[in-house]
Amino acid sequence: MLFRSKLSDSGHYSNSQAGKCSGTAKDLLTNMIKNSDNCSADWVYQQVGSGAVQTVATNAGMKGFALSTADPLYTLGESKVTANDMALFFSKIDKMMPASQKSFGMGLLGAIDSAGTPGHAGVYDSGVAQPPIYSKSGWDDEGHGHYTFNQVARITVGGGTYNVAVLVSGSTETNSENIMKTVFQKLFSGTTSAGGGGGAPGTPPPPAPGKPKILWKPIKFDQARMNEMKTYVKNNYGSFIKPATYFLNNPQVIAEHYTAGPSAISAWNTFDSNATLYGESPGTCAHFVIDTDGAIWQMVDLKYMCRRVTGLNYTAIGIEMAGTSDGQILGRPAELSSALKLTHWLACTYHIKPGNVIGHAEALSSPYHKEDLHMVQGVDMQTEVHSDWLHNDMVTFRSKLSAMGGC
Ligand SMILES: [Zn+2]
Repeated sequence: MLFRSKLSDSGHYSNSQAGKCSGTAKDLLTNMIKNSDNCSADWVYQQVGSGAVQTVATNAGMKGFALSTADPLYTLGESKVTANDMALFFSKIDKMMPASQKSFGMGLLGAIDSAGTPGHAGVYDSGVAQPPIYSKSGWDDEGHGHYTFNQVARITVGGGTYNVAVLVSGSTETNSENIMKTVFQKLFSGTTSAGGGGGAPGTPPPPAPGKPKILWKPIKFDQARMNEMKTYVKNNYGSFIKPATYFLNNPQVIAEHYTAGPSAISAWNTFDSNATLYGESPGTCAHFVIDTDGAIWQMVDLKYMCRRVTGLNYTAIGIEMAGTSDGQILGRPAELSSALKLTHWLACTYHIKPGNVIGHAEALSSPYHKEDLHMVQGVDMQTEVHSDWLHNDMVTFRSKLSAMGGC
């Protein structure tokens, strides 16, 4: 098989068609499965072709499978699969996967957790199964805050192994995941969990503290934009970052923002456009944006720098909150709670001190604030700052954060 040889070589591949993903075959397969990355899926599709994909579907006994014709870049990534076909496919993958690839392939499916990709909370939050859980989810934006979500999982409950798929359409992300969770609980009502904990339907164990649910919604962040970031680092931080890089190494600051707009999608569109600022590229971006209903979208991989706060882009993780004032967001429990959970998890993961969780408006007083440039288009980059998340409001935010406890 083509992929057996691809997995054993050390070549570096890039998707020139979609133009925004590259890596080894293992990297791209990992991105396709764990991050539901359509660009990587497109690369895989280019390698194997439609015939091989259709053969897999036929061998699995799938009846309704169809490659997408809507967008030539996402023929595989947006393919149509029924819940029945997904469960059927999962029931056969053991037999269909060559022995030499099984540990890699099943390892990817078993490594996804409830926060890994959109729609992945259902089976985990249901509490019916004990690890290992093999699962995969997908999603499609129907517009107006509604989504199609699917989740297929192989789980062991009460000594039996089940392949189950759930498809939900026309609801918000949070509701869709709750529906999936309820479906899994109802399906296994009365079945004793092999692991003991969380066996009784309707009383799932409380979610483990840690990573909140994150919807992966990447903006365009291709090699060209990374190179622009590297040039920005050379120009703005060249005196202390040598050699220049676009990688966010050892982040020390979390910067909180509001979008100055009504919704996450308006901010997403701005960041995706990569428009220049003060005549400099790349455009602005943030790693995360939180919508008014509390949904957390991740737009950029944390391994890359995002240009959002002059003087801190080399070391700051950026979190945007949809809204037009600090006070408005402090008065929205769902949005504020998600911002706090995300910040808490990031601060714990990257060992960022509470005092380095700052508002954009506090940037100039950060001990990490460093900037090489002075006047650019009539603006002094030494003091360029925005007025989102003022000090007094951040005092409130940080006190709520500390009330969440340690790591
Ligand atoms: Zn800001």
